Amino acid sequence: MPTRSAPDSAAAAAAIINKHGVRSTPARVAVLAALLAAHEALTHHDVEERLKRGHDIDRVTLYRVLEWLVEQGFAHKLAGEDRVRRFSASGRVARGGAQGSGHAHAHFECVECGRVVCLDEARMPTIPVPHGFRRREVEVTVKGCCDRCSR
Ligand SMILES: [Zn+2]
Ligand SMILES: [Zn+2]
Repeated sequence: MPTRSAPDSAAAAAAIINKHGVRSTPARVAVLAALLAAHEALTHHDVEERLKRGHDIDRVTLYRVLEWLVEQGFAHKLAGEDRVRRFSASGRVARGGAQGSGHAHAHFECVECGRVVCLDEARMPTIPVPHGFRRREVEVTVKGCCDRCSR
């Protein structure tokens, strides 16, 4: 997998936000860039750690920006087995396409280290629900051992 350098991710993040005609702020760009540069879903804490150098974003702003990115469809959030919320750039957004469609893909969760990655390539199964039931969202999580832990 190609590793994007930080400046590349920042430029990509700014381009994505501007393309959708919403106001980009340094904090929004920095947080989306951190999600784009990561190859796994990040917790609030992970994002904070990655922003430490060179950015002055307090915790409240960080929470607000993450929620905003989710509302805009630029990122989605998911909860792992540990119930910790994690954030990931939406698949199509990360690949430079249109806004992502939330949870329309499966996730892999490592039972050893808790790492969660988006399985963007996986096609979601169509699961029929009983007559009169309305589905809101479908979450598919594959659990196992990630490449780092199975070494
Ligand atoms: Zn692992
Ligand atoms: Zn995902």
